[in-house]
Amino acid sequence: MEKRYYQPGIETMAYKDMKKLQEERLAAQVKHVYENVPYYKQLMDEKGVTPDDIKTLDDLKKLPFLTKADLRDQYPYGLLAKDLSECVRIQSTSGTTGRRVVAFYTQNDVDIWEDCCARAIVAAGGTNEDVCHVSYGYGLFTGGPGLNGGSHKVGCLTLPMSSGNTERQIQFMMDLGSTILCCTPSYAAYIGESLKERGYKPEDNKLKAGIFGAEPWTEEMRHDIEKLLGIKAYDIYGLTETSGPGVAFECEEQTGMHINEDHFLAEIIDPDTGEVLPDGEKGELVFTSLTKEAFPLIRYRTRDICVLSRKKCSCGRTLIKMSKPMGRSDDMLIIRGVNVFPSQIETVLLNKGYTPNYQIEVNRVNNTDTLDINVELTPEEYKAAKNELDIREKKLASAIKTMLGISPRVHLVAPKTIARSEGKAVRVIDHRKLHD
Ligand code: ADP
Ligand code: ZN
Repeated sequence: MEKRYYQPGIETMAYKDMKKLQEERLAAQVKHVYENVPYYKQLMDEKGVTPDDIKTLDDLKKLPFLTKADLRDQYPYGLLAKDLSECVRIQSTSGTTGRRVVAFYTQNDVDIWEDCCARAIVAAGGTNEDVCHVSYGYGLFTGGPGLNGGSHKVGCLTLPMSSGNTERQIQFMMDLGSTILCCTPSYAAYIGESLKERGYKPEDNKLKAGIFGAEPWTEEMRHDIEKLLGIKAYDIYGLTETSGPGVAFECEEQTGMHINEDHFLAEIIDPDTGEVLPDGEKGELVFTSLTKEAFPLIRYRTRDICVLSRKKCSCGRTLIKMSKPMGRSDDMLIIRGVNVFPSQIETVLLNKGYTPNYQIEVNRVNNTDTLDINVELTPEEYKAAKNELDIREKKLASAIKTMLGISPRVHLVAPKTIARSEGKAVRVIDHRKLHD
């Protein structure tokens, strides 16, 4: 018999009990950060709140928000709430200079994170009979280590493949009979296409499910991947700041992701005013970690725009659901799974002596993201560089790759070819239509 839940007591808990658990944990967490993180104490003192003021979920509103800028300012140890001797791990956001966020974990934090990922794997039908093929990147990136740990907890035979080397991925998948694939949706599509090119049909592999996340993907892409690989494709959500993937996961109903709300308390706010919005309204997702010891977050603004719902789910889980992220309230792009801010590209251009007349074009071709950067030259530059555009484009592309961790195609274009806007410059054209 397939096991339906990993931690049934929590996953199907009546909301009134969940609320009580959340309130107890919230009070303890606020006390923990107030006493151990001077930065939080200062933020709370400025707002005139003390841990004694936080008793119910409604009191959450009294607490200050935390943003990515705070995390960067406090890099590396400013938000650490435990002694380093009690920490066993760090993970970090995808390889971007200047924007790095480093998250710390105690052993207990790692355990809880892995439990959250295990819930996702069981929700996708995983048991100890499964062969779980993890093709998220391993290392500082949270995807590989998170799903790897979850897979161990479920008792699956775990293949720690990491990403890349598609030839080997396919060989292991076919030879060892992988049944669950974990990776970004783009990579899943790529593996699917590669199998097809080699003459494999969907029924030739043993895969039954995939757990895909770390970047936005559409229902259309889900259908493509399901057809290509002959599987059911489940979404999973998380961010490094909150520990990694497994903050929320999809069940068989596939109508949004259940949030592991015994560990992560979710709110939706108006991104402009900070006002808390009722369930069902679209706004920015904010998380408070209820159990994290080393790197707790109070009211962390994710910048992801979505909707929360407590509508009854046919899977029997009572955990609140979030919609797929419908966009961002900042200008961050996710390209091939990597977080990219236009300002990073601008920094490289200015450093290399180019003008800031540029335009970024992002597209998704055969389920793979492309990044094109058009950079306008001044008439003098254009004249001087005319015969060596190719070399200069390659040099600039390589400098941008060092900054972002992914390769763009750079096009140095003639003066006045990038359309000027009357208001704010249009820096980014995203053709991907990632949100339904
Ligand atoms: P990750 O390790 O998941 O890539 P990052 O901290 O680098 O974590 O990026 C987190 C961001 O990735 C989230 O704020 C969100 O915008 C995006 N993201 C993660 N999972 C999903 C998902 N399933 N669907 C859409 N966007 C996602
Ligand atoms: Zn469900």
